[in-house]
This record gives sequence, C-alpha cells and structure tokens, in this order.
Amino acid sequence: MTTIYRAEWLLPITAPPVKDGAVAVDGERIVAVGTHDEVCAACPGASAVDFGQAVVMPGFVNAHSHLEYTSFRGMFDDEQFGDWIISLIDVKASLTPDEYLWSARLGALEALASGVTTVADTTYTGETLTAVAEAGLRGVAYLEVFGIDDKRLDETMADLVERLARAQTLASPRLEIGVAPHAPYTVSSRLFQTLAAFARQRRMKVASHVAESKEEVTYIRSGSGKFAHDYREKMGWERMLIQPYGVSPIKYLQQWGVFDENFLAVHCVHASIDDIRILKAKRTAVVHCPKSNAKTGCGIAPLPDLLRQGVRVGFGTDSPAASNIMDMFDEMRTALFLHRGVERDVSVLNAAQCIRIATLGGAEALGLDDRVGSLDPGKQADLIAVDVSSSHFVPIDDPYSALVYGANQDDVLFTCVAGETLYQDGGFPRLDAHTIRAESRKVRAKLQARVGAGRVRVGAAESGWWHTPPATDQRES
Ligand SMILES: [Zn+2]
Repeated sequence: MTTIYRAEWLLPITAPPVKDGAVAVDGERIVAVGTHDEVCAACPGASAVDFGQAVVMPGFVNAHSHLEYTSFRGMFDDEQFGDWIISLIDVKASLTPDEYLWSARLGALEALASGVTTVADTTYTGETLTAVAEAGLRGVAYLEVFGIDDKRLDETMADLVERLARAQTLASPRLEIGVAPHAPYTVSSRLFQTLAAFARQRRMKVASHVAESKEEVTYIRSGSGKFAHDYREKMGWERMLIQPYGVSPIKYLQQWGVFDENFLAVHCVHASIDDIRILKAKRTAVVHCPKSNAKTGCGIAPLPDLLRQGVRVGFGTDSPAASNIMDMFDEMRTALFLHRGVERDVSVLNAAQCIRIATLGGAEALGLDDRVGSLDPGKQADLIAVDVSSSHFVPIDDPYSALVYGANQDDVLFTCVAGETLYQDGGFPRLDAHTIRAESRKVRAKLQARVGAGRVRVGAAESGWWHTPPATDQRES
C-alpha cells in the first residue's frame, strides 16, 4: 500500500527544496520523491495525505539525549556545570527504575511531538530502551558506564555484560545498543580502553561526554579543581590517586586509542584546532549541544572549525535536565545565533546548513545515513510535517529560513518512523500521553522532596549510586 504525502514545500536535504512537493511511502520505505505531479505519475493508485501549507522533511536526528532525565528539567537552571552535575547526583539516587521509565516515556513523547525520529540516547538505568521501543522511535541507546577504581574493573565489565544482555532483548532494526563510558573524569583510562576494545569486538557504537567543561579540562590537565575535589568526594572516590596528564581531554583520550569512526564525542566545547585534527584523523564524529553548553556555562563548541575540517557533526538537545526542552528548532537557532555572534561573521553558518546538521548530519554522525537523514528513494520513511500556515511564517519563500528562524516544536503536525504514524495533530497512536504526563508529575514531586531534604553523600548514604549497587567505585571503608 503506497501513501503519498504532499505539502507546499518538501525538503529532501540531498537536493534543493521542492515547491508543491511529495514523497511516496510504501511500507517502511520511501519509494518516490519530487514534485507532486512527478510522484503521482510514479505511483498511480496511491492514497494521498495533503498537509497543505506545511513543510515535509526528514525527521530530526537528536544525536545526544538522556530521556530518563526528562522529569529533572528546570531543577537547577542557574547552577554552573560543576555544581549542576553534583546537584544531579543528589537527586538521581531517589528514583526507582519504574519512575525512571515514566521519565523516559515523557521524553519519548516530547521527541515524537517535536519531530525527532531518531534519538542517540545515553542511559544508565536502561529504562530508556523500553520507552524508545514502546514509542516506536528509532534509536541508538548507549549503556552508561562509570568507574575510576581499576581494582573493580572486572566487576564493572561483568555488570555491563549483564545489563547488555537485558538490553539486547529490546534491540530491533529500529533500536541499536551501544556503550557509553560516561566521561574522562568518571572513567579510568584503563576502563576506557577496555570498553573501547569491548565495543570494537562486538561492533558496537560508543558515545562519551568529551571536553565538555573547564572543570574537566582542569581535572585532566592538572588533576585539580572541582572534579578532583567536590565531585570525587560526592562519588566516594576521594581516596583514589589522581594523575595530572598535562594534556587536553581529547589528546588524553587519543593517547589511549579509544577514538575511531564508531566513537561519538559529545560536546567537544574545549577543542583546539589540534584536537579537531585528531578527531578528523580518527574519523570520530561530534555532537554539538549548543543550548546545554551555553546554559550550564560550559561554553560554545567550535562548530565552524569542526565543519571546516570535515568532521561529521550532529546536533543534540542533551538531557532535559540541562536544556529543558527537546526542541531541535531551538537548537538550530541557538547554534546559528551563537556562532554568528561569536565569530562576528554571518558566513559561518546558515539555515540550510543547520537543517542538514539536524537531519543528515546527525545520521552521518551515528553511521545511520544509509537508512535515514534525507528523503531519498530506498531510505526508511522517517519523516515529519511542519505547519507553516500561521502568521509567524507568512509569507515564505525560503523554507529553510522559515524553519530555523521561526519554527518551534509546537509547529510539528506529523511524525512517522519507518512508515508508521507515531504522532499526528496532537495524538499519539501508540502512547497514553495523559497517563505519562500524570505519572511524570508524581516523579517530579518526589525529586523536589529530595531536594528539600538536603544534600546527601552518595558513597556513604546509599547502598549504591542507583538502586542496585553498581560495579563501580564505592567508598572504601
Ligand atoms: Zn549528556
């Protein structure tokens, strides 16, 4: 059964915008793209959906998110990154796996309503996998690993193998499982290397937070600062030896041989030209999270230099705990304004480039560009329709401009993954949005109660960082 989706504008991404465009979908795949007349001629007898004054385009690829933290949004809006991440430790341990699942479901709901069709999601609890599978989203879910104490490395790896076995039961052609060493300041060099080798052996993708904050740079370079003291104390790691490495986080990771084409370096705010050349040489992809990095005071990643050097780059909203909403229009707009403002040069980034990074760029960064990221015959039918009939869009003669400068997540009308309609006109065929929102409010109330109860020292006060003792480092006492 073939369906033709028609709109005033079609953005194939790999070709210029098409006025009065259409895309034909048969089952999971796109079978024709072009003007409405061309597509009708190619697919006689197909049923038709006409979105009218709308833009049909590939769904967004959100190249970095943490769906399980959706209920945390807006809790620590004014904390500097180092304090913010420590505040999160305080509240993270208070939720049950079931509560994390509701939080992740809320994130999946927002993704669909925002026109996100692929999420590259980092998860410690693994509850994201269930939420993504239920929602029908396409995803790469990276299971997060922490560990500074090499004496516990075998335990950490055994725990990962066990979590992966559970995760694999939810894997599907739409949902791939990867591994996420959390960051250079929470994963020892030996564990980082072990995880990289483990992933290569199993052909799994790897994602890690890299060169995100000045606190991380100080920690790696000189073994000092907030991460060396406050953060490690919070984690119960203060007795572990710290070694100053004297190099940038990217050079540090290169020394351990962890970068390759399946490695996704998230953030890279503190990346010099030499660092960028390393990423390029290793064919490592980068995720740019402009809002998260700016809001937490981390800085602005050198996107123009990354693009000039030919590094694969996607946009990520990061955790709603950091950037509050999963609006890819907002990410595109923020990126464009920040980079033009900082460089005092309008030529560094334009609207068409932003749309490409948010779709095909993300797909390339994740190694999924043979399947998604553009509207081309043979690709998966992951597409969205964005309403451009309201006054803030009128008149339009450049759809890229209209979307990047003017659109919001609320303008998304329709989201479909692999030919399956998952969101249309405010409705979610697969999900009970009312219950998800109601349960998420309860989760938030519990988090707020924890904040009100004051800070705790996780290593001492909890049986584990989360609910089951993780095979990472606990306080030795
Ligand atoms: Zn993150």
